[in-house]
Amino acid sequence: MAKAPNCKGRIVGVRWLAPDILELDVEMVEPAELHFEAGQWVSLPFGPKTVRPYTIASPPSERRVFRLCADVTPGGVGSRFLRGVKPGEELAFHSPLGNLTLIRGSSAEVILVAEEIGIVPFRSILLGEAERGFPRRMRLYYGAPRRELLIYHEEFEELARRHSEFGYAPILEEAEPGPGGGSGDLLKLLARELPELAGREALICGGGKMVKACRELFMSRGMERRAIRYEKFW
Ligand SMILES: Cc1cc2nc3c(=O)[nH]c(=O)nc-3n(C[C@H](O)[C@H](O)[C@H](O)COP(=O)(O)OP(=O)(O)OC[C@H]3O[C@@H](n4cnc5c(N)ncnc54)[C@H](O)[C@@H]3O)c2cc1C
Repeated sequence: MAKAPNCKGRIVGVRWLAPDILELDVEMVEPAELHFEAGQWVSLPFGPKTVRPYTIASPPSERRVFRLCADVTPGGVGSRFLRGVKPGEELAFHSPLGNLTLIRGSSAEVILVAEEIGIVPFRSILLGEAERGFPRRMRLYYGAPRRELLIYHEEFEELARRHSEFGYAPILEEAEPGPGGGSGDLLKLLARELPELAGREALICGGGKMVKACRELFMSRGMERRAIRYEKFW
């Protein structure tokens, strides 16, 4: 029997960022504030043994109301629930977990790689770092098959304009996607732009195929295995 959810919130905002991408604002009820590290996720229960994790898109400084962002194209139990959510409804969930977070105490440059909805943890991380004036260098590589799926693009452009320590490289995957995901344009861009990665760190998020290929590429370019944190959303 799974543990009962230990947090409760109320939906106070629902917005569609693209035809199948939904943003939810959740106001905390119990506890009154949500404490988390940027990059962590909460999980929504759908039965005794069924949960779906969703990553927090807002920065940790926003503790009373936090934001989730979901791609509902998969169409399973999580997507169907989120599609139907309405403002005013209550949301029960398990408290934040996960280690797709910045390595504490390090000042190494961080390469962030996101495929499609895998961008969600990086919005939280980048907005959190922007509040602190970007104490370390960061570069975001972000791929999606169509412009409308490159969510938060303008926000990242604006961050890059305001902070010289942050670099932003969006890419539209041009060819038809192959089995299991993107066409590989994101990986080609990384292979071209990052010849030497010794001493750097990486956070990678998206489909399992891209994540695996990206880890292998980064290690072949000198990045240490323990310097790479990743999450496979699908
Ligand atoms: C740690 C973690 C954090 C996550 N955070 C988010 C988040 O912030 N936003 C979000 O939208 N999703 C996130 N996910 C994925 C999410 O938990 C669900 O798996 C997703 O919403 C599909 O759930 P479902 O019940 O609708 O479909 P399911 O029945 O669980 O999945 C149906 C199929 O779709 C595949 N799939 C799941 N997501 C995608 C996708 N985006 N693109 C293509 N295929 C996919 C699954 O692998 C499965 O084969 C996260 C997953 C993990 C492991």
